[in-house]
Amino acid sequence: MTQNEILEQEDFLANKSAEEILSLLSEQLGKDIVFASSLGAEDQVIFDMISRLGLDIPVFTLDTGRLFQETYDLIDATEKKYNKKIKVFFPKHEAVEEMIAEDGVNSFYKSAELRKNCCHVRKLEPLSRALKPYNAWICGLRRDQAETRSGVKVLELDGNGRIKINPLINWTEEDVWNYINKYDLPYNKLHDKGFLSIGCAPCTRAVVPGEHVRSGRWWWETPEQKECGLHVVDGKIVRKNKDNNNE
Ligand code: SF4
Repeated sequence: MTQNEILEQEDFLANKSAEEILSLLSEQLGKDIVFASSLGAEDQVIFDMISRLGLDIPVFTLDTGRLFQETYDLIDATEKKYNKKIKVFFPKHEAVEEMIAEDGVNSFYKSAELRKNCCHVRKLEPLSRALKPYNAWICGLRRDQAETRSGVKVLELDGNGRIKINPLINWTEEDVWNYINKYDLPYNKLHDKGFLSIGCAPCTRAVVPGEHVRSGRWWWETPEQKECGLHVVDGKIVRKNKDNNNE
């Protein structure tokens, strides 16, 4: 199928279950599809579905060098449970060394621009490399995670013209945890300590009940600034569409 033919299925897929979306697109895209997992609760659900359905979809994650120990423990536990490797991509060490020499080890607290530069070096560039062999990738975005995600569709084009597949857009947080509990999935133990959305350790904190799921991320910035910018063109940040914030 051509890319356009796949994208034209949006209305059809919008009413399908996450399992049906994954199965159908895996069949249509074959080796062109990859799953980008940040080990979040939603990603654990997708990982389980891929495994349960027996889909031959490779999985990768990004190690920024600033993750929580609990996240590394979860990578380990997930690989063991499913007997499936998660390919780990790291930032280029020269770029990290240069950034730290210029801006310090905690540059992200100094300004939004420096924070975005850190995300670029530690996440965007490795993401660009990880996605290079593929024409489509799967993400765990949900519409109710953030204002910037309210318009997310099942199928989108990222800044590089790749198809981005969001099988859980209609799921609520409750749906995610019901699934995790039903199938006894491994999950990040920080969730039990009030962490809802988990990224890098210095940029993530626990939230109190009632706070928005994303309020623990880059909490010192305004909502408009909270663009990780996880869509890239030729390794550079592209900000065409705020809805594409991915992590
Ligand atoms: Fe850097 Fe924070 Fe972005 Fe991680 S989340 S890459 S530590 S700015």
